[in-house]
Amino acid sequence: MSPTFSANNRVAVLSEQVNLLYRSSVGSVISSLGLMVFTAVALWGVAPSQGVLRWGLAHGVLAAVRLLWVRYYLKGPERLRQKTWTLSFLLLVFLNGVLWGALLSMYSVSWPLPHQFITWIIYPGVIAGSVITLSAYFPAFIAFVAPLVVSCAWALLSIDGNEYGMLLMIMAIFFACVLLAAQKYNATLVDAIETKRHLQAANRKLAQMATQDALTGVPNRRAFEYQLQREWGRSQRRQGSLALLMVDVDHFKEFNDRFGHTAGDLCLKEVAAAITKQLQRPTDLASRFGGEEFALLLPDTDREGAMVVAENILQAVRQVRIPGVEGQDSAITVSVGVGCCIPQRGEGSEQLLEAADQALYRAKDAGRDRAD
Ligand code: GH3
Ligand code: MG
Ligand code: MG
Repeated sequence: MSPTFSANNRVAVLSEQVNLLYRSSVGSVISSLGLMVFTAVALWGVAPSQGVLRWGLAHGVLAAVRLLWVRYYLKGPERLRQKTWTLSFLLLVFLNGVLWGALLSMYSVSWPLPHQFITWIIYPGVIAGSVITLSAYFPAFIAFVAPLVVSCAWALLSIDGNEYGMLLMIMAIFFACVLLAAQKYNATLVDAIETKRHLQAANRKLAQMATQDALTGVPNRRAFEYQLQREWGRSQRRQGSLALLMVDVDHFKEFNDRFGHTAGDLCLKEVAAAITKQLQRPTDLASRFGGEEFALLLPDTDREGAMVVAENILQAVRQVRIPGVEGQDSAITVSVGVGCCIPQRGEGSEQLLEAADQALYRAKDAGRDRAD
């Protein structure tokens, strides 16, 4: 794997991780708000009301900013740089962590036991919840959890009493377990993202291989037949003229016998390139039909137009020179059969193919190196 590929891959994986964070943000902002309301109500009358109000208000403002920011992202992630989205997300979740930690600045050991219980149970809950919502990108998980852990440790260390020391130890063990779980979840997720990307790349490659001729690189017969059905239907609906050209290399068996199959293969590549160069419109298709035959599909083209393309092809192939194969006998020519029609209901595309084939036989019979 080249360094550029792996660097690109890392950027793409990071972008997917950040995308996951933003997409799961609405749910986590709303649950954070819900938990804030529950906490404020539970501590109302026990903690200083001014402090609880200010704390709740700050939560509300931060939640609104986060929701607006997520909305802005979802409308068009390409509007800002990847780094800006990542850093701004880290900052917002860090502030959320600081806010949750700030609750402990109001805490007092004189609170009734149920309120103390509620306070200390909230933190493991919030930390565990963030494993699911934030560990898609490990720095985001740390940015949220670090201020919480520091606040809890600070508050518990500043209280005298063995029970609080015990509580601190239990929290430390719990946090270590959560950290491991978050790391595992993150690794699994990154692995899944990378696997998905590799599968998508492999699928694209397979789809290309299934429709491309391996020797000449032009679309293969499968691609031609698919396109023929599509263009047949479209021309039928619009009552437009559809032209099909069958191009066959003249005396190609002799060419192979004389110069060998390697020169023959090279010849097919050159002829395919020369034919493809004659196509002007993006809807035109040149494909390898099989062996030394090429089939061209020209939508919205009448017989006159198709004959012009056929003459251009004859001309272009006459100029083809195969490296290492010189002399008069090595001149390459093709014959072209032109079929053209306005598809009608009840008719099938086989008859257009048949018409082009018949025309090709006539061109061969008339002496080759010509179009009919
Ligand atoms: P005509 O002018 O009547 O078309 O004669 P022809 O010799 O071109 O036609 P024929 O059908 O007798 O022979 C076609 C030859 O094309 C036979 C085969 O050896 C050669 N051929 C088909 N596919 C390939 C290929 O992929 N590579 C090479 N080198 N030769 C091929
Ligand atoms: Mg042939
Ligand atoms: Mg031939």
